[in-house]
Amino acid sequence: MGFEKYYEAFPAYTDVYSEEYRKRIEALEPLLMKHMPARGRVLDLACGTGGFSFLLEDLGFNVVALDNSDVMLSKAREFAKDRRSKVEFVKGDARKLPFEENSFDYVVFIDSLVHFEPMDLNSTFKEVARVLKPSGRFILQFTDLRALLPVLMNGQIVGTEYWISRVLPDTDEKTVVLEFQSEKEHFRVRFNVWGKTAVELLAKLYFRQLHSERMNEHSYFQVYAPK
Ligand code: SAM
Repeated sequence: MGFEKYYEAFPAYTDVYSEEYRKRIEALEPLLMKHMPARGRVLDLACGTGGFSFLLEDLGFNVVALDNSDVMLSKAREFAKDRRSKVEFVKGDARKLPFEENSFDYVVFIDSLVHFEPMDLNSTFKEVARVLKPSGRFILQFTDLRALLPVLMNGQIVGTEYWISRVLPDTDEKTVVLEFQSEKEHFRVRFNVWGKTAVELLAKLYFRQLHSERMNEHSYFQVYAPK
C-alpha cells in the first residue's frame, strides 16, 4: 500500500516531460517567479523526479534537491544527465536535513504533505526553519485534502486511465486510503489528510506567513519567513 504504484500510475509526478507534469509546472512557475525575486541557493524539499528543481535551475537558482526515495532520485538523476543539469540530488529525510543552519535562501516544498504525519511535518517545518537564512523564504504548495475528501467520496473520476473506486477514511479522518482502479488493475494508497487550517497552525510555530493564495479550488500557494 505504498506510494510506488501510485507514482508509477501518474506521470504528473514522475515524468517531467509528460503533459501532466508540464501542467503542474505551468501553474506554479509564475508564482515562483513572483515570490522568489532574488536569485540564490534553493532547497527543493521532497523533490521527487526533479521537475521543479530543473525549472528553478533554468531560472538561475543554485539548486540542491532532496528526497528519501531511491526510485524517485534515480529517475531525477537520469533526467539531470539528459539535460546536463548541475542540480545536486541528495538522498535524505525531510525530518532531519543533512544541511547546515542558515544555508538556504529558499526552501520549496511542493505537493508533498500527504506523505507526512503530524509529528513528521512538525519535525520537517522545524528543520526548514533551521536551514533557512534569517532573510530566507519558505515556499509551500499543498492540496487541502480535508476539503477535497467529500468531493472524492462523491466518486469523482481522476485522470483518464484511473478512477477512484473506494474512499476509506479512518475514524477521525487523519488519514484516508484511496483505491485507484483502471481497466487492468487496482491498488490502494494511504494519504495523510491535511487541511489548510491545520497546516497554518503548525507553520505558525516556526514561521511568519507573508502570503497565501488559492491556486484552484483545493490547492494553496503560501510564502513564509522564519520567525
Ligand atoms: N515535489 C515533487 C513534485 O512536486 O513533483 C515531488 C512530489 S511527490 C508527490 C512527494 C515526494 O515526497 C516523493 O518523491 C517522496 O519520495 C517524498 N518524500 C516523502 N517523505 C519524505 C521524507 N520524509 N523526506 C524526503 N522526501 C520524502
